[in-house]
Amino acid sequence: MLYDNYQSPWLAEEELRILQDAAERFFEQEFVPHAERWREQGKVDRDAWRKAGEAGLLCAAIPGEYGGGGGDYRHETVIMEAQLRAALGSWGNQVHSTIVAPFIYHYGSEAQRQAWLPKMASGEAVGAIAMTEPNTGSDLQSVRTTALRDGDEYVLNGAKTYITNGQHADLVIVVAKTDPTLGAKGISLIVVEANTPGFGRGRNLKKLGMPAADTSELFFSDCRVPVSNRLGQEGRGFVQLMEQLPQERLNIAQAAVVIMERAVELTLDFVRDREAFGQKILDFQNTKFKLAECKTHALVARTFVDQCVLKLVEGELDSTTASMAKYWCTEKQCEVVDECVQLHGGAGYMDEYEISRMFTDGRVHKIYGGTNEIMKELISRSL
Ligand SMILES: Cc1cc2nc3c(=O)[nH]c(=O)nc-3n(C[C@H](O)[C@H](O)[C@H](O)COP(=O)(O)OP(=O)(O)OC[C@H]3O[C@@H](n4cnc5c(N)ncnc54)[C@H](O)[C@@H]3O)c2cc1C
Repeated sequence: MLYDNYQSPWLAEEELRILQDAAERFFEQEFVPHAERWREQGKVDRDAWRKAGEAGLLCAAIPGEYGGGGGDYRHETVIMEAQLRAALGSWGNQVHSTIVAPFIYHYGSEAQRQAWLPKMASGEAVGAIAMTEPNTGSDLQSVRTTALRDGDEYVLNGAKTYITNGQHADLVIVVAKTDPTLGAKGISLIVVEANTPGFGRGRNLKKLGMPAADTSELFFSDCRVPVSNRLGQEGRGFVQLMEQLPQERLNIAQAAVVIMERAVELTLDFVRDREAFGQKILDFQNTKFKLAECKTHALVARTFVDQCVLKLVEGELDSTTASMAKYWCTEKQCEVVDECVQLHGGAGYMDEYEISRMFTDGRVHKIYGGTNEIMKELISRSL
């Protein structure tokens, strides 16, 4: 453990520690042996989803009556932290379990919950959410994909890009304009099942990092889905997205904290072992000062996100605070990991060293879930 006398307050319950142990064991036994191959093939094996479902690691915060784990956000986050500590980078479960499943649970009808959540919890169906388009990312209300009503159906046309789980996805929540004459108020969330005619997947995009998490273009060409596939009321999509974003942003902030902690641990191991000029790298004052700074940043970030987790579980995490957590923790993560790469010397640049992968895999944290510039824009509205 990096800290001598700090324990996350939300992790106090024994049930969560049991889940933590089980998740760590699962990832070590079932995922780590395949991780290298998955990175090379650009996605995890399909079977990985089913195995994670069998082990109870999908949809942990969804009630048991829909096949989920019956927990809350703390359970989700215990699993995410275990995954990152196993040096796996991302494999799309944050999108599947922490974003897509909650949208269906919170806004879906009873029939929609029954139809989709049990399959997602077992790993039979993989979920994705498609907001970003080739011409629109941060400015979400300007999406051009349309879902126009024709009798009892919506007809979808448009293109999405950078969609996590795009290759594996069986269910995609599509952010589309049901009324293109309106801005944000014309947006609705429509679930498209991947076997629907008119739905197409593009390339599995090559990325700077996280190679095992597939990221794709998606296309909709006169793709007809029943009106009953809409989540909640027509025109409420933008509000629904805003309501769920604090959880997504906190999740990214927490991932950033785990990365900082692990980067410091890995670097300590390295500099304790390696020598230059007849002494351990750790014995140079620069090394000790840099790692002292990094450990301090990690603990300050950890205590902040821990408070946010407690607030989220109580239903009290506001958008400004979640944006602060996402912005600050991810900026610090990039600074800390950069220092840790430097302390590894040339090894820090080699793919076989975990620190180099943390540098590339983690860079996206400043970009997705709303860029850090957008986070500052949102925070500034509270001034
Ligand atoms: C690995 C990966 C996975 C992703 N997964 C998904 C997914 O599953 N689903 C999905 O829908 N999307 C996904 N995305 C997309 C991601 O959410 C967007 O890339 C992100 O929101 C930024 O949008 P953009 O790329 O269009 O950048 P742009 O919006 O074009 O921004 C370009 C630059 O301009 C800045 N900028 C924009 N507006 C402002 C402003 N008002 N003030 C100041 N600066 C501004 C931005 O901060 C950025 O620096 C993923 C992206 C990546 C890289």
